[in-house]
Amino acid sequence: MSADSKYTKNIEQFICSREPKNRSGILMQDSAARLGISVNEVEQIQKPYTFIYQRLPVEVEGEIVNISSGIILHNRARGPYKGGIRIARDVNVWETTELARLMTLKTALANLELGGGKAGILVNFEKLYERFKSRLKLDYYPFVDMLKDHIMKEFVDHFVERNLLRIYIPAPDMGSSGREMMLFYNKTHDPASVTAKPEGIEGWLPGRHEATGFGTAYAVLKYLEYLGKKPSRMTVGIQGFGNVGSHAAFYLREAGCKVVAVTDLHGGVYHKEGIDIPALMAYAREKRTIKGYDDKRTIDNEQLFSLPVDILIPAASGHVVNAKNCDKVGVKLVVVEAANMPVTYDAFRRLKKRGIDLLPDNFVNSGGVIASDLEYRQGLGGQRFNRNEVLAHLKGKFDEMFGEMLNRKDKSGSFTQAASDIATERIYRAMKTRSLL
Ligand code: NAD
Repeated sequence: MSADSKYTKNIEQFICSREPKNRSGILMQDSAARLGISVNEVEQIQKPYTFIYQRLPVEVEGEIVNISSGIILHNRARGPYKGGIRIARDVNVWETTELARLMTLKTALANLELGGGKAGILVNFEKLYERFKSRLKLDYYPFVDMLKDHIMKEFVDHFVERNLLRIYIPAPDMGSSGREMMLFYNKTHDPASVTAKPEGIEGWLPGRHEATGFGTAYAVLKYLEYLGKKPSRMTVGIQGFGNVGSHAAFYLREAGCKVVAVTDLHGGVYHKEGIDIPALMAYAREKRTIKGYDDKRTIDNEQLFSLPVDILIPAASGHVVNAKNCDKVGVKLVVVEAANMPVTYDAFRRLKKRGIDLLPDNFVNSGGVIASDLEYRQGLGGQRFNRNEVLAHLKGKFDEMFGEMLNRKDKSGSFTQAASDIATERIYRAMKTRSLL
């Protein structure tokens, strides 16, 4: 044991639990071995700088409901902490830590002058709705919106109190959207304090809303171009039809791909001839789910994953392709990680053995943070970007990242390992330059 790890009271000792082995950790350790970074050094790169726990008391029908939340500030060697606010029923400290680390890797891979952080807010809306239903005069979704308003107000109060403005710059993640970013801005009145603000709010960026899905589709098209395959011959299955999944589906369909199956938390649709994505988007906007779009041709997650599509895009939660189900996954060509860490390390190895490629999350879904970076700089400096400039910038960044990954792929072993090597090296160099290691 090095002197450093012996005498440092690290986060595991402090919160009395150890981060479970996870993909980003294993990949970074492998990268470190390839790059000649020591075990102790990579341990420090992996660990977060700061962890903040917050209790958010909110009032519902005269009762106080306590919501747990946390902010993990992972690494700011290359710039301010950047990453989304996740509002979900399964948030926990170690998942948020891995998501924050992933942001550090993502911003480094895209070569942005940003670091990585993440906020997690643990709330089970369904359970709370059941508890208060008899006393409420609200339907489910208006109840969710009302609760999110209360939660965000508490969250931003804590945030401002702790002087985190411009130190950690939030954006949406699962369960949050431009609406919650607007609630954040309402308190800060600072256009550089938060990104993905809705249209018309000071410092908003045209193209940011669709940037992650647009980038996901562009990543797929780059990959198909590299293989010399025509989009019009490709079938696609997508898990998740929120911000990322719906826009990825839209742009892939526009490029000629046939999106045959889509699921969300409540249901799914399977149209062998290809789903009319604009129609499904219009339906989902109104109903906030795709359930009920076509009751005659439905599909669930298990069936979706076993479909023999060319391209499978998990665009919902993490660890959905894992050791238990990966041998039954029917995809023929590539799994595209639009979600954060949807494929576990074991599953990644087994898919690789089967000859299935994986396009990694820190590449595929980086469109959001690349656009957010422009929005942040716009907020700092007053320069304005139009939608065409934003989308052209995204394409340029994806071309650059894909080229760098290709250059390294054979030496590193895969796209996933190449992406990890590039990012780990950049973070390491910045930490060394700044005497943080
Ligand atoms: P969102 O809340 O807008 O949508 C999530 C979608 O996933 C919804 O359709 C929901 O019903 C569905 N879903 C959730 N659990 C599911 C399940 N078990 N089975 C099937 N569908 C399920 O979230 P989003 O912003 O689209 O984010 C999706 C993923 O992309 C997350 O992993 C997020 O971390 C990642 N991501 C998002 C952004 C962004 O800019 N929004 C950027 C980078 C990464």
